[in-house]
Amino acid sequence: MDPSSTSPCELDREFAPQIAQLLAAPPLQSAQEYYDRLIQSGKHDGIRVNFSSKHGKGVCANKEFAEGDLILKDRILVGAQHSLNKIDCTVCSYCFRFVGSIEFQIGRRLYWQSIGSNSDCTNRRHYHGSDAGSSASSSGATKENSNTLPEEALRSLINGNLSLPFTDHFGLPRVVACRGCEEERYCSQSCADSDWETYHSLLCTGSKTDPSRRSAIHKFVEHANGTNDIFLVAAKAITLTVLRYNKLKRQPQKNTDESNFSLLMEAWKPLSMGFKKRWWDSVALPDDVDFCDEDSFRQQIRDLAYTSLQLLKDAIFESECAPLFSLEVYGHIIGMFELNNLGLVVASPVEDYFIHIDDLPDDEKEEAEKVTRPFLDALGEDYAVPCEGMCSFFLSSCPPH
Ligand SMILES: [Zn+2]
Ligand SMILES: [Zn+2]
Repeated sequence: MDPSSTSPCELDREFAPQIAQLLAAPPLQSAQEYYDRLIQSGKHDGIRVNFSSKHGKGVCANKEFAEGDLILKDRILVGAQHSLNKIDCTVCSYCFRFVGSIEFQIGRRLYWQSIGSNSDCTNRRHYHGSDAGSSASSSGATKENSNTLPEEALRSLINGNLSLPFTDHFGLPRVVACRGCEEERYCSQSCADSDWETYHSLLCTGSKTDPSRRSAIHKFVEHANGTNDIFLVAAKAITLTVLRYNKLKRQPQKNTDESNFSLLMEAWKPLSMGFKKRWWDSVALPDDVDFCDEDSFRQQIRDLAYTSLQLLKDAIFESECAPLFSLEVYGHIIGMFELNNLGLVVASPVEDYFIHIDDLPDDEKEEAEKVTRPFLDALGEDYAVPCEGMCSFFLSSCPPH
């Protein structure tokens, strides 16, 4: 984009020097120390990040991540399930494991599917500026399906009054609710607590949250769901940093010795390691946009990000972390997710379940299918939709080479 076009964001000007420091590539030595500490503290056997100023950063792993691999939660820095995928798969908001039971997964999805088919589904096209953030790629729930089951049966599946055969072979962790809202679910109390401390306490829309803040969070989330859910994962990167900042600030020795900005730099460190560019400068020009309209296309994307940022600021702005809420930093965080473009995919146990039924000896299969067949038919060809989302990793957010 034309660099002379001035930013609409006041904070970009007010905090220009701090923003430059936040966005500067970390010195090689500090990055190496950070990764060495991270690898020592975690379970990253066999992975070492090597640095050289010539080749930049690269993860040397014994094995490459294959598409569809379940990535361990301790490697995820920030991740989020795609908004539309939440209809198809109910997973832990922190570690992305499927939760509840096979019956709960099937019942909940068919329930949402039946609601979806009764309402207008045409408004599901998502902003085309970014493949990384587009949630339009997921969801079998958007398809027409004539095999609707009685709502009563679906409710029984969800609340555990109706069991399907052989699901005891596919036990899933019990659903643990968020202490505040009903939107987030977890596989364990420890995931619920970790999510709360790491990201969610600032974004929870539960009854304990101040009503004006709650409605501001809702507006931000609605805008993201209606345009591009990459904003949701960017917001988590910001809450991660603000919460780390607050934690550092509570340590008495830190509070006296260090300036607020150096604490913010420290809090930002995990994100400082990711390769970043402004989102509106890094998205590929879509085929249907004429080359001569490129400037206005990129300006539109910047404006979209700015609208999202203002809604986010209405909800969670913290003046001591003000540089984080600049359009320049927000744009770079979104650009980081766009560029690294790491898809989060967790295979569905519902798929394994129906494969198990299909592999049963003929007589058992026939018996089981009397119960399971209507549900499989209702789910349709997309019965095996995996959990899909986007994320950034501690160890692999490297510049493309
Ligand atoms: Zn979990
Ligand atoms: Zn919550």
